Amino acid sequence: ARDFALPEDEAKAAWEADRQHLLHPWTNFASFKERGSFLVSGARGVHVYDTTGRQYLDGMAGLWCVNLGYGREDIVEAIADQARRMPYFTPFVDVGSLPAADLAKEIARIAPGDLNHVFFTCGGSTANDSAVRLIHFYHALRGKKDKRRLLVQMDSYHGSTYLTHSMSGRHTARSPLLNFETEMVQTLRSPNTYRRPEGMDEAGFLDLLISEMEERILSLGADTIAAFFAEPLMGAGGVIVPPRGYHARVQGLCRKYDILYVSDEVVTGFGRLGHFFASAEHFGLEPDIIISAKGITSGYQPLGAVIYSDRMQAVLNAAPEEAWFTNGFTYSGHPVVCAAALATIRAMEAEDICGHVRENGPKFETALKSLLDIDIVGDVRGSHFMMCVEAVADQKTKELFAPKADVGHRIADHAHELGLIARSIGNLIVLSPPLIFTEDHIAETAATLREAITRTRADLKADGFLA
Ligand code: PLP
Repeated sequence: ARDFALPEDEAKAAWEADRQHLLHPWTNFASFKERGSFLVSGARGVHVYDTTGRQYLDGMAGLWCVNLGYGREDIVEAIADQARRMPYFTPFVDVGSLPAADLAKEIARIAPGDLNHVFFTCGGSTANDSAVRLIHFYHALRGKKDKRRLLVQMDSYHGSTYLTHSMSGRHTARSPLLNFETEMVQTLRSPNTYRRPEGMDEAGFLDLLISEMEERILSLGADTIAAFFAEPLMGAGGVIVPPRGYHARVQGLCRKYDILYVSDEVVTGFGRLGHFFASAEHFGLEPDIIISAKGITSGYQPLGAVIYSDRMQAVLNAAPEEAWFTNGFTYSGHPVVCAAALATIRAMEAEDICGHVRENGPKFETALKSLLDIDIVGDVRGSHFMMCVEAVADQKTKELFAPKADVGHRIADHAHELGLIARSIGNLIVLSPPLIFTEDHIAETAATLREAITRTRADLKADGFLA
């Protein structure tokens, strides 16, 4: 840990450089101007270290991605070895590199059903964006060029390009100062069972979601709808677990109306729910496309993947000579990035990471659910190593604290002081730790969070937000 401490003047200079010159993703300028950034200077295993050398338990695996933890020499070596051998060559137009070909074959092996083809991108946003272009191309080849529209869910998150941000239903994250695509993208009600209409049971809520979706399809015209995009379990929108049976019934509608089902597994994939992909094994889904990123390289390199079916490939293979799929990036299938993904898959299988998650994930759920005895915890939900704690002003009525109370930030800040990195999203605290978390790490996370919430409760009381 001491290796990562910087002399005080260097640490200060780095903090100033960041504040003066760097625009971070998702910046709130007012708070950034005041607080600047928390800079991390090193990481090992499940811990990160700040510039003073102080250690924190990383309850977020970076940003839902460092699934195998930090300091993995096998992945580092694979990256270095490929960079020495050949750092880059063009992937465009019938040219390629060995790691991309090997990785495509490996992904076909571990992906469910007939998802045997893959297009590589630079992350989750570009993967969703490219999926839309592939879907449009596919429908056009089938003579259905009017099938352009995308059905998405309120509260979802699919990325931060112009189109994928428009596809993200996280309404709280939609800046009124930005523009969004509103015709091609059609947003459906969030499948949030905790916030379902009052007096409605889960089965009734499921019926409502499905009937609303079918009505929307019929009113827009099925022949104008290309695809439905959903995370099997929503992440950034608040770890939302849909009602039981939701995915199967949505898939039924998609099949009925010739709409492709895209399962965005950027977070749920690569072990987070105990399987390489959660769609089939956890949710019984047979998607036409799976989107992957983040954990696919354990966060060691930026990679996204559009994994699609033999059925779609059959249509692409029958394309006329003049048809070009004009979509791709300089770094699609980057050799060094693919080498990191290959090393990640090797390590996950050799160490049975999915088995570890299946065994320990339920313990994580139980440990966090014990927080429900605190009166400002309204809901604890999620699955395995993808969890969320929802803070409320009143457990019975589910009433929220006033936004000014800033309850999520307060809890995350207390956790930070206590040595745990947790992420606040509004009134939610999200946890998505490295998949190598042990029982001790699970117990430490739950105990620290309990203390952070208890301290927050006392603050809220002192500040008049709680009776
Ligand atoms: N899809 C989901 C479900 C995500 O959670 C994210 C990022 O958090 C993305 C897509 C976007 O991925 P990226 O940030 O790598 O572009």
